[in-house]
Amino acid sequence: PLASREFQQEDTVIQVRDVLIGGSKPVVMAGPCSVESVENIVDIAKAVKRLGGHVLRGGAFKPRSSPYSFQGHGEEGLKMMAMAREITGLAIVSEVMEPDKVALVAEYVDILQIGARNMQNYPLLREAGKSMKPVLLKRGLSGTIEEWLMAAEYILAQGNPNVILCERGIRTFETATRNTLDLNAVPVVKSLTHLPVIVDPSHGVGKRAFVRPMARAGVAAGADGVIVEIHPTPDQAMSDAAQTIDYQEFGLMVEEIHRISDVL
Ligand code: PEP
Ligand code: MN
Repeated sequence: PLASREFQQEDTVIQVRDVLIGGSKPVVMAGPCSVESVENIVDIAKAVKRLGGHVLRGGAFKPRSSPYSFQGHGEEGLKMMAMAREITGLAIVSEVMEPDKVALVAEYVDILQIGARNMQNYPLLREAGKSMKPVLLKRGLSGTIEEWLMAAEYILAQGNPNVILCERGIRTFETATRNTLDLNAVPVVKSLTHLPVIVDPSHGVGKRAFVRPMARAGVAAGADGVIVEIHPTPDQAMSDAAQTIDYQEFGLMVEEIHRISDVL
C-alpha cells in the first residue's frame, strides 16, 4: 500500500503555505468547533497566531449528532475563515461532508478535513483524493487502525500524497470521558505509515480540563502535532463548548508541547 513504510521509508512532510506538517516541530491547529461570526473567527485567528499556532480550524459544514442542532454557516462560514486567513496569514482547515461539496470547500481551504463519521465514506475519500488538496483524515469512532490506513489509501490512490492522519478518540466502554484518545495508535500508526499523525485531544476526551494533559501526552507519544478547539468564551461556544479551552489554556498548551517535543 502507498501509505505503508514498505512503500516509503522516510516520513512524509506536507507543506501548507509556510507550515511544515510532519517535520521536526509539532504543528498546532486550533480554532472554534464551528465558525460563528466574522468578529469571532477573526478574534480567534489572531489569538491562534499570537500564541504560536499554525493552522486555523473552524467548522462550516457540521456533522451534528442531532439534526436539530446548529448545522454550521456553510459557504458563508468558509468565507469568514478565508477572511481570517487574509488578516493573519494562517492556513485554514475545515470539514467537508459530501462528495459534491469537495470542489466548493477546496476553493476556500488549505486543508480539507474529513470527519470521524465519514472515515469510510469512500466516494468522499475519492473526491478528496482527486482534489489534490492536503487532507486531514480523522479516525472513525470505531475505526480500526487497519481500516483507517485503508481509508487514507483511497485518497493516496487518486494521486494525492498529502494525507494527515488525526487520532480523535475512539468509542470504548468508558463513560467518564466523551471518547478515549487512543494514544497507542500514535506510535503504532507511525511505525506502519510514513504519513504525519496528529492528535485531537478535544474530541478525544470531551472535557476541557483534560485537553491540555492529553495534548502533552499525544506529543510525548510521538504525534506530529495537535488540533484543539478554542474560544474566547468557551461556555458560549455554539458547539462542543464542554471540550473547548480558552486562550490562556491554549497558550500554556503550546508552550508545553514545544518543551516536550524538544526533549524527544
Ligand atoms: C470537529 O472537528 O469538530 C469534528 C466534528 O470532529 P470529529 O469528526 O472528530 O467528530
Ligand atoms: Mn467539535
